[in-house]
Amino acid sequence: MDEILFRALAERVAGYLDGVDRMATAQPREVGHELRRLSGAWRSLLGQHAPTGRRRRCVGCQSPRGSPAMCTVWRVAGTWFVRA
Ligand SMILES: [Zn+2]
Repeated sequence: MDEILFRALAERVAGYLDGVDRMATAQPREVGHELRRLSGAWRSLLGQHAPTGRRRRCVGCQSPRGSPAMCTVWRVAGTWFVRA
């Protein structure tokens, strides 16, 4: 995936997760805690699937003949967390 497009996607996803964290502060303690757990887990997962290296491929999903296209983890995040 193009580096500029990936950065735009990553910023939008991070913005969504930041919004979830902000909403968590207005929720009852247990609900807020669970929302922060979910956003933290997503941040960790996305970090493990960030494109790296010269070919900008996901280390977690990388295959020897794989393309530099965005991996499935980022596709799911883009589909669910980025609104048109
Ligand atoms: Zn991946």
